[in-house]
Amino acid sequence: MNVIHAASKGSPSKAYSGETAPGLSLTKMSEEAISQEFLPHLEGLARGDIQLPYCIDCQKFHWYPMPRCPHCQNREIHWKTVSGDAKLFSWTVVRHAFHPSLKDELPYIVALVTFEDAPGVRLVTNLVGVAPEDIRMGMSLRPVFDNSSQERPKVKFSPV
Ligand SMILES: [Zn+2]
Repeated sequence: MNVIHAASKGSPSKAYSGETAPGLSLTKMSEEAISQEFLPHLEGLARGDIQLPYCIDCQKFHWYPMPRCPHCQNREIHWKTVSGDAKLFSWTVVRHAFHPSLKDELPYIVALVTFEDAPGVRLVTNLVGVAPEDIRMGMSLRPVFDNSSQERPKVKFSPV
């Protein structure tokens, strides 16, 4: 099953209420409507760890979060902390500011990373701490947690 397709058919997104996310700043997160299904992941990032949805029944990870396991349709979804050890699956260098607020970030790197201990998951993120010409397919990466902005907590990745 195509995971992205399945995610688009999940329950509709709801505005973030802040009621189920202790420790997170409402003012930082309220600018953006965030699906409730992402809250355990965001709470993990705010603590400095990566939580991914995991099916107890078929023992597989998936991404994005969704109400049912995309592999076996089970509703028993738990969250597991992964080490953060990752590999670069794909990337692109963005050199055009699609929004004025991104102008000072150029060029930035959008990447797709896989996890050593969460097979099947590919996370869209940013690469930092590396020049575009030094990027290599499959390079080992470590997480860099970013809670400094006025937006929601993020995880970016940097070469080991
Ligand atoms: Zn399953």
